[in-house]
Order: sequence, then structure tokens, then C-alpha cells
Amino acid sequence: MAFTHALRYYAGMSDKPVQDRIRKLRAEIERHNHLYYVANQPQISDRDYDRLYHELEDLEKQYPQFLTPDSPTQHVGATQHMGATQHVGATQRMGGVPLAEFEQVRHRLPMMSLDNTYSQSELMNFHERLLRLLPGQVFTYIVEPKIDGVAITLRYEHGRLVTGSTRGDGTMGDNITANLQTIRSIPLKLCGERPPPAVLEVRGEVYMTRDGFVTINRVREEAGEEPFANPRNAAAGSLKLLDSRQVARRPLDVIIYGIGELEGIAFDTHAQMLAALKTFGLKIPAKFWTCRSMDAVRVALEELKTMQHTFPFEIDGGVIKVNERTFYEKLGATAKSPRWAVAFKYESERAETRLKAITVQVGRTGVLTPVAELEPVALAGSTINRATLHNADEVKRKDIRVGDQVYVEKAGEVIPAIVGVNTSARNGQERLFRMPNKCPVCGEPITQREGEVAYRCENLQCPAQLKRWLRHFAARGAMDIDGLGDALVDQLVDANLVADPTDLYRLRHESVAALEHMAATSAQNLLDGIAASKQRDFWRVLFALGIRQVGAKMAQTLEQHYTGIEPLMQATPDELQQIRDMGPVVAKNIYNYFQTAQNRGLIQRLQKAGVNLKRTAGAALKSGRLTGKFFVLTGALENFSRDQAEQAIRALGGEVSASVSKKTFGVVAGAEPGSKLDKARTLGVRVMNEAEFEKLIRA
Ligand SMILES: [Zn+2]
Repeated sequence: MAFTHALRYYAGMSDKPVQDRIRKLRAEIERHNHLYYVANQPQISDRDYDRLYHELEDLEKQYPQFLTPDSPTQHVGATQHMGATQHVGATQRMGGVPLAEFEQVRHRLPMMSLDNTYSQSELMNFHERLLRLLPGQVFTYIVEPKIDGVAITLRYEHGRLVTGSTRGDGTMGDNITANLQTIRSIPLKLCGERPPPAVLEVRGEVYMTRDGFVTINRVREEAGEEPFANPRNAAAGSLKLLDSRQVARRPLDVIIYGIGELEGIAFDTHAQMLAALKTFGLKIPAKFWTCRSMDAVRVALEELKTMQHTFPFEIDGGVIKVNERTFYEKLGATAKSPRWAVAFKYESERAETRLKAITVQVGRTGVLTPVAELEPVALAGSTINRATLHNADEVKRKDIRVGDQVYVEKAGEVIPAIVGVNTSARNGQERLFRMPNKCPVCGEPITQREGEVAYRCENLQCPAQLKRWLRHFAARGAMDIDGLGDALVDQLVDANLVADPTDLYRLRHESVAALEHMAATSAQNLLDGIAASKQRDFWRVLFALGIRQVGAKMAQTLEQHYTGIEPLMQATPDELQQIRDMGPVVAKNIYNYFQTAQNRGLIQRLQKAGVNLKRTAGAALKSGRLTGKFFVLTGALENFSRDQAEQAIRALGGEVSASVSKKTFGVVAGAEPGSKLDKARTLGVRVMNEAEFEKLIRA
């Protein structure tokens, strides 16, 4: 829609209005990005935003000569507004090729780390040293939250982001520009009234939100991958990925709190600097304190501590900085840290308790997770009696034994975890944990897949899995079965009425009504809900099947590419991998799923029950005869302007590129063709004249 509209609107225009429109759209989008990602105060609906975004994207496609690397469309993974958690698995539009390794970047000003203090007296030592170094001077302090993330530097030259790097050893870091560009709150171009300085190097911390961390670990555990130990590890691991398209799916964000090299700008105080960075569109700490005395610093740190769980990220203390930057040079630095700042770290919230037992849970995908059953203990405002142990390797690595006194930490309120064992409290009665070799629920033998740390019960009829599977099947995002709640799922499985989801479609009124707490009307409601689910979209069924790593988004993508279940069941891994966003692992999972006799039987029963397994009209991927074909134009055509020829190709799904390569489908040669024609001949690429081209597009 947007595309054709834009075409009609701009056809025949000279370049000037187009350029103006592009400039305007970019400014608008940058402004709304900032409102959404940095200020957290969106002013327009996602839909209106998408409209602006797509108009810009279409124009840039149509006029590639105006596409610049700082356009908001060039944020890797940029598509539309998405909440941080939704970034996991978000559709990918752009992004470079994976790197073999990171380039190194030399920091022109070293990236120092801060000295840590843990007590009031150490903090006082810091203050007294400053008094000695600055006799008779008046200075103030700034207190900021100490974010538990990964330190980074962003270098802007004339307002454009040129490099983003890690701290590394403080002198040399990794060039992770492409990865940092995926973070929406990092502007590719500085905004604001004032002209940007020649050089502005800013420093800050990349973090993963707590919610994002929980989501990403759940996805990893379901996929049998090692979960991240804490949000900081998750953020660090994400920034180290060599494929920025993967980074774009990680829920990362940034806070900027410092500077490196500057040219054409200077700041007298830290507070002034933060204010300036904010006007440039950078995300600075939402909360900080200006303090005139050490007492005020103490109060600020106390206040920060009480509010630490209200931040979307983890903090592990506060940072105290001298506000007056004019003193920095005089104060200097030790080998490692500046003398004008110090970190004050809070004691992590930790408790010691007895590990009574280790039980094993079976997840929906059959993954077995050891869980610590604890003597109840108060921690960070709640009572903890269980903690995940992630997997058997972790139990072994930490040498956790049943009966041990263990240390429990709540990683920023996220998930209670066992961080260690008080080995001195052992009395010899402790027992080593061994992963059972049979599923604790169904008794079938468990297996470990190649390359995975997780153990699984592969029995699809396993009641533990079955219950979770049925819940997933009936959930709102999947088959959306009204009246089939968790308790009823348990009842149906326990009463042996349902052994897989297809049995739902064979339930009889009298057997449902005979269940405990079940009245005739609610039985009828359930059966009606089940009957209604037969009409759900094809992708919902695909999602409901619970194929590993096939989420709602992937299921929708599959529906775009396949008319129904039969062609999908016949797809080879190679064929599946042709689909954008489809990695080799997912392709293999889908293929394997349909190779299993058990699953094929299940599909057959769904078909027999009358469940919709065909693509909904309109869900097909928009495409034309020339989809996936690249054209190169050279020389002048008689009946088409260059633009018209390009539009004709694009209207049929084809693409136009500037240079000839082996990938080129055809070179359209008009009068006085250039060197592209020679190149086409050398490479053996098909050359067509205007008449042949016309025939092709009119066919
Ligand atoms: Zn089992």
C-alpha cells in the first residue's frame, strides 16, 4: 500500500522535493525514536510510526542515491517500535555479514575503570584524599547508579557515529560498531539544536534489561542451550557475537555517563556535560544526585539503594564523581583509575540456607532441569524456597551436594540462584546429585542430544510434557481454546482422556461432564471452544504443535511460504533455509519434526478432525514473477526512463543493482551501453535489448 502510494506520489517529481521529504522523514523518525527509546514518552502510535518508517524505506529503495548510512532505516534490525522483550526473535531486515573477528580500536584517551569501595570508611578515605589534593577548593559530587553492564565507547565525528568499541584492556578494545548500532537508544546521528562538535566520544554501559534476561534464558533453556548466569554476562555475550543480526535480537540498552576525546566542545561540570549529552539525544542516567557534602553523598547512596529494584536494569552500587571537571587534570589518575571518581558497591543480597533436596522438572520440550529445594529463607524482601540449578553440569561445577549449606543470591530480583556452598559446614552426610537416567514423570529413559548440555525426556506422551504441551496448544497465542485452563488440562491428562492434543477433538460430552467440578454447561463450553479452534489460522496450528524453536513469528513466516501442511511436510532443510530468518538449526528441527512417524500421525489426526491446515487467503508472501531476480540497467531506453524501468522491475518483485555480478539475472542494454555490457558478456550473464525487456515485463 505505502509503496504504491509513494510511487504514484513521487513519480515525475524532480529529485529536490524527494530529498526534502527524505530529510523531513528522517528527522521525524529520529525524533520519535528518541521519544520512544530514550525519553520513554512516545507521542505517536506504532501504526503512525510504521507509516512514516515505511514511506522513508520505500523512498530510499526507490532513490538509493539518497540512502546514507546514518538513516534511521540503517539501524540493524530496525523495523518498527518494539518493546525490549519483543526484540528477542524480532524479524531482521538489515545487518551485515558475520565477522570472522573484531578489529581492534585504540582508545585515544584510555578507558579507565573505577576503584571500588565497600564501606563508609573507604568512602571517607576517597573524600579526604581529595581534600588533600585540592586544598581550600570548593567542589561538589555527583552520585549516579552503577549499572552492572558492559563499558563501551561511542565516537561521534561531526555528529555521526563512526566507531563503537569495548573497553578491552583500557587502551585497545574491540570494534563492535555494527553490534552497537543495533541498540535503538544509540543514535546514529546526534540530534538537537546546536551543531554537533567535531569529535564527541561518549562512554557508557550496555546492559540487558531484567525482563529481557528472563525471556532470553527461558528461550535458551527450552532450546537446550546453556542459560546466562546473569544479565551482565548476557549483555557481554551478546556484544561479542560476530553476527550483528543476532545481536539485534537481544534486548540490549545503554546509559551514557561519561566522555572521552572531545574536539569543538568543552564542559565545566559533569552535570553540565550530562545535560548537553541529553540534548544530543543520548540516553543519560534517569536519576542522579548533586551533593554538596559527604553527608549528602551518603544520603544519596541510601536513597539509591532503596530504589535499586525500580530500575529496569541491575545496579550493584553507586558511582561518586567530582562534579567540577576543571579539577580533573590536577587530580590525575593512578595506573588504573581516575582520582576524581570512585564506585561504592552494595553488598549483594545473599543468604545462607540448607539444600534439602534436588528435584528434577520436565519442561514442555522435555528438558530436565534440576531444582534446588531449600529450607525457606528471607532474601531481598521475599521468602525463597526453591532455586533453579540450570543443569547437571552446573551442579557438578559448583560441587553442590544435597544437605549442603548453600549461598543463595537474588540476581537483581530476577531469579534466585545458588552461588556457592559453605563447604566448612559439611559433615560428611551430604550426597552427590546424579541426574536420573529415567524421566521422573513417565519413567522412560532420558537422552542427551549431541552438543547439548541438557538432558531430555523424548517421550512425547510423557504426562509432564503432555500437560505443558496442551497448555501451550490451547493458549491464546496458539489455538486459543476457550474454557481449557491449566486445571482442566491436568484433569484431562490425569483421567487419561487426552494423550495428545488431537484427542481434544474426540472428547465426548459425557466424559467431560463426568469430571470433578464440571457442570454440564461448562462441559459444553469447552467442547464449543475446541470446535471453534478448528478454524484457526494455519500459523497458529503450526505454533501450537510446539516444534522446537518455531515460535509465533516463525510460524507466520512458514505460512507465508507454504500453502498448507503437505508442502511444508515435504520441504527439505535446504529448501527451508532459503527462507529469510531461517537458520540451519531451525530448518533441521522443522524437517526432523515432520520425519517422525509419531508427528505425522498427529498431523493426520488433526486433518481428520477437520482442523484447518491450509494457508489463509492473503497470508502468502507478497511477490511477483521476478522475485529474487537481480537486474542491471545500462544505456538509454526509448520507451522507459531509467526510473520507469526500475519501477517496472520492482513492481514484479525483481531488484535492480548497480553493478553486474554472477548473481545478476539479466542486463537490460539500451542505446550506448557502458562497460556493464562488457562485464555481462565476460561473466556470461544474459543480455536483453529493450524489446526483449518489454516482452518480459508485459508477459
Ligand atoms: Zn517423561
